[in-house]
Amino acid sequence: MIFVNKEVKVGIIHSVVFDFDGTLSLIRKGWQEIMTPYFTEVLMAAPNHGTLEEESHCAREFIDLLTGKQTIYQCIRLDEEVVKRGGQSIDPIVYKNEYHRRLLEKIDYRREGLATGDIDPVEYLVPGSVALLDMLKAHEVNLYLASGTDEKYVKEEVELLGLTKYFAGEIYGARDDYKLFSKAMVIKRIISENNLHGSSLAGFGDGYVEIENIKEVGGIAIGVATNEETMKGMDEWKLERLTRAHADVIIEDFRNVRGIEKFLFKG
Ligand SMILES: [Mg+2]
Repeated sequence: MIFVNKEVKVGIIHSVVFDFDGTLSLIRKGWQEIMTPYFTEVLMAAPNHGTLEEESHCAREFIDLLTGKQTIYQCIRLDEEVVKRGGQSIDPIVYKNEYHRRLLEKIDYRREGLATGDIDPVEYLVPGSVALLDMLKAHEVNLYLASGTDEKYVKEEVELLGLTKYFAGEIYGARDDYKLFSKAMVIKRIISENNLHGSSLAGFGDGYVEIENIKEVGGIAIGVATNEETMKGMDEWKLERLTRAHADVIIEDFRNVRGIEKFLFKG
């Protein structure tokens, strides 16, 4: 556990909001290896494209910057980059659908295996997830889940991992009309509906967006830098981006549930 912000003042925690992909769920792990080559391919097809290396670098940069927002934002940016290179603007939903088709092709066996019971959910959960959620429930905090993935898939995958019961219906994801949802909106609503001070709200996430959204309302931001490949130690890339987003503390996963409990509840 790395304490980035030594001055952090944790209030009486009332609500906790989670990101989903990369924070609790690993069902979609490897999505960057689908999105980056696909976006690079689209950029390379524009009339005034750069070298393969340049376009791949460009795609990686903006994909990472927008991770945590709804997928459509990455596709809107792709369309802008195509136009910059002299290509035609199209409805970004076309890019989103093609990306998602390719991603599902890669991960469908995981969803299938979880649905039939051939795969144990533990294989696609960040280590310690269930113990963490049990601990938070024992402290009677309200749990919320807000994801940039389409809501229909988020709800299915929460169920496949056996986590539905923890969230009491408070599971949110991207809508077709993307302006109707954002993580910031969910966070603001939690604060206003429960009349909270920021320091009574904690958030767990592995991307810039949710960490920044939590910090904007004065909440306690816990960065989760799980190495999704090895499941050991921290992912350096995530650690760097969570530090830059001003997470208060950064953890590698939830195996040290006792340490997290001490930090949030002081005992
Ligand atoms: Mg994430």
